[in-house]
This record gives sequence, structure tokens and C-alpha cells, in this order.
Amino acid sequence: MFNDLSRRRFMLTTSALFGVSLIDQKALAAANGGHFSLGVASGSPRADQVILWTRLAPDPLNGGGMAPEPAKVRVRLARDPAMMDILIDDFVTAHAAEAHSVHFSARGLEPGREYWYQFSYGTDESPVGRTRTSDPKAGQVKIALAYCQHYESGFYAAYRDLAAWSPDCVIHTGDYIYEGDIGTLGAQMRPVGGGERRLFETVRLHNSAEIVTLWDYRNRHALYRTDPDLQSAHAGAPWIVGFDDHEIDNNWAGNTPQDPEKQTHTEFLLRKMAAMQAYYEHMPIEKPPLIAGLEASLQIYGAYRLGPAQVHMLDTRQFRSDQPCGDNRKAYCEEALSDKRTILGKTQEAWLKKSLERSKAAFNVLATQVWFTPYRYNEPPEAPVVNLDSWDGYPVARQNLSDILANDVSNPVLLTGDWHCAMASTVYQRPFDPSSKRIGHELVGGPISSGCPWARDMEQVRAANPHVSHLNGRQRGYLRTTFTADTCNAEFRVVEDVGRPDSAVLTDIELRTKDL
Ligand code: FE
Ligand code: CA
Repeated sequence: MFNDLSRRRFMLTTSALFGVSLIDQKALAAANGGHFSLGVASGSPRADQVILWTRLAPDPLNGGGMAPEPAKVRVRLARDPAMMDILIDDFVTAHAAEAHSVHFSARGLEPGREYWYQFSYGTDESPVGRTRTSDPKAGQVKIALAYCQHYESGFYAAYRDLAAWSPDCVIHTGDYIYEGDIGTLGAQMRPVGGGERRLFETVRLHNSAEIVTLWDYRNRHALYRTDPDLQSAHAGAPWIVGFDDHEIDNNWAGNTPQDPEKQTHTEFLLRKMAAMQAYYEHMPIEKPPLIAGLEASLQIYGAYRLGPAQVHMLDTRQFRSDQPCGDNRKAYCEEALSDKRTILGKTQEAWLKKSLERSKAAFNVLATQVWFTPYRYNEPPEAPVVNLDSWDGYPVARQNLSDILANDVSNPVLLTGDWHCAMASTVYQRPFDPSSKRIGHELVGGPISSGCPWARDMEQVRAANPHVSHLNGRQRGYLRTTFTADTCNAEFRVVEDVGRPDSAVLTDIELRTKDL
């Protein structure tokens, strides 16, 4: 079994002693069943279709370990977990150009039904995955929200708990991998402002220096994906995924990297191309990146009907203008207020407007990478100091969308990631103006494992942000949401000790948006 306790102990012991070495990972791949060391996944659930994913990788941290030849992989889908009542039995060819990944579109399925699937290659068999088609007519849907899973900053107990909940669907809003280099193992007290210090722990290590090439990005995705709890979350439910910044480079925007002085424009375009290619190779999404000249683009945004919720997965990273005023936390300079600036891009904006107009669902879920809720880091009456990488840095674009949401959109609920901090808020049509129309709510669960060194800064100014009704930057976790025709229930799950893969996971708070 890929997640039995002895293997987990083995991983812990060996990685604690030697870091993550080539030898451990070969043993790990063998323990996993050789070619299926990265597990299985499904995603992009439709009423009649779902994408099934795996990747052949007998040596996952060293390019995968496959010969360059194409490989024939058998894929089977059944109506039962024992894989007896077979509906699909087919072969797919996995190519070296796609890191021997498999993206199989299982079609002709029934809505709102569970299915099980398994891949085989030679004598190796993958774990059996469970998936579920969407059901537009269902009276209820259970959606888990996950994001920000820095590998070094914590174990994935949250994913173990998420898999046990058996959601109908998982939404991942990004920072699936982090591009940074290798840290230092151990616990550290770090200053968080105001003379206060908090504990941050590096529990395991990245496998290379900052990633730049396709080889690097593949090996980094593979490292994250060898985690047994992440594998079980993928094997347990279909995912709808969108990348944020760290899948490519911290706080990148469109064609601008975080450090334009450290890489040329062409170098960044090549890096982005490699990152998007590797992202596709490791995710249960249908389409590979489109390449035009040196520019890659990946289709992330799209709509999914899940019972009473219409999910609009947004892409707030790929088409945005660069962060204004030099990024970070600042009051607006003139640039921020320009109406030429965009966070979704014109095409996506037009698509979203139409998608919202067409939606007949009781709830309209907007899954966005970065916070829509305004948050000021200082007290009034001074001009608000805000995080310019979030929607706060794109005030005209946010106002345009707020005006749309305020008119004829049924129950908007934003499900969001990025800021390593759990949060629930009421969204008003005008930011920081509770006398303007209430247009909906934003819910952000805890980050799967990434730490929040700015939690204290946020706690200090809670009173200046009364539209935020829940804030927890001290614990990791994820969000369970349950939608019915008239209720959105949110259960904020928190990890007791992110330094232990077997940590307890508890409910911090449970709330209903209509009570906010
Ligand atoms: Fe993050
Ligand atoms: Ca981020």
C-alpha cells in the first residue's frame, strides 16, 4: 500500500537523516509499485466526463526514469471499487515529450455517480482512484478548498483529513509547488513584528536550488507528488485546479517575473513555458499549454456546474497587469487607479460576465487565486495600506466585477487561497464601505502547509477591517464547504501540529454565509 505506516516512517527517518536523496526515492518508487510512484488523479468533472491522470515515473526525482520511447498504458474505469463492473478498458500512449504523463478523457458517464479507475503498465498496477461526475440536478454538493502547500513548511495531515471527508470535488487555487531552493531543517523562532517572535519549522527539504528548467519543474512536481497524503487526496476525488504564482515564480504577473533584474525577458518566457508544461504534465487537466512563438498559455479558467453551485474557476495570474506601485503592501500611487490595468484580462472578463449571466445555480462560486476582500494594514483615516498582489492592487477591475456581482448574480461566494491565512468576510459593493450593498462572501480556508509570517500584522488591524468576521493565520488547514439550495456551510479545518504527518485535524469554526 502506498500510504502504509512503515513506509511513512521510512520516509521520515531517511529524509531526516540524509535529506531527500536519490537512493530514498528509488526505494520509494519501488515501494509504490515502480512506475506509479506519483499515484493517480482525476479532474475537471463534468456530468458525463472526467479526466483521469497518471504519470509513469520509476525514478521520480531524476526526470522520471523512463526510456525515451512511447509507452502504452492500460486504463480501466469501473462502477465499483473492486474494479469488476468495467465500463472502460482502453490503452493510451504516454510520450517522453509529456514526461510519460497520461491524460485520459473518460466519456459517456452518468451524472452524479462515483466511478473507480486504475492504470497498468507491464506488470505494474496503479492504486485504484475514486472519482465522481458532476450532477447539475443534485440538491447538495461537498466541495473542499485547498491551496499553498509549501513542502518544507509542513506535512500534509490536512490532505489526509480532506481525503477522509470524501468530497464531491476539490478546488485547488494554487501554490501547488514552490519554486524556491533548499532550506535548513529544524525549528526557528522568527520575528513577526512588534518585538514578537513565532515558531516556524522546516520539516523536510526541497530537492534542488530554485527551479528554472523543465527538468527542474518536473522533479519538483514529482517531489511534492510523492507525498502519500497528497496522493490519497488526489485518488479520492476529482480536482478543479488553477495555478497561482509559485508554480512559476513568486508574484509573477503576465510576462513579468518577480526579479526582472535576475532574468532576461526571454529567459522568463522560457521559464514560464517550462513551468506550464510541467504543471500540465502533473495535473488532471485536459489541454496542454498553447505555444505561440516563445509564449506559453494554459487554459485554467472555466465553469463547472456542481448541484446548487456554479463554480467559475478564475485565472488571476496569467493575464494580469504587473502589480502597481512596485508591489508589496502600500497605499495607492496613481498607477494603481488606472483603468487600463487588469487582473483577469479582457477575454476572461467577458467570459466571466457571460458565464455569470447564464448561470441558473443558487450559488455562484468564484474560485480566485488571490483575496478579493479588501484588507487594510493601517487605521483610518489614513489612506489604506493594502497588499498590491491581491485584488486590492487592481481596484478598477475589482469594482467592475463587484458591480456585476451586485446585480442579478445569485449568492456570490468567493473561494480563495494565496495569503496563508484562513478568513471569512462579507463583500460590499464598495471596498471599506459597509453602507454600500452587500454582494456576497469570501471564504478562505487555512493553507495546507505554508506558514504566515504576516499573521501578526493582520491581527493588529482587525478592528480596521470589520467586514472580516473570521481570521486565523496561526494554523494550517483547509476548508470544507457544503452547498444546498439555500445554504452555504463552511467548516474551517485546522491542523494541530503541521510538523507531524499524523497530526490531528480539528474544526476551528463552522459558519453559514447567511449568518455573516
Ligand atoms: Fe502561497
Ligand atoms: Ca501565492
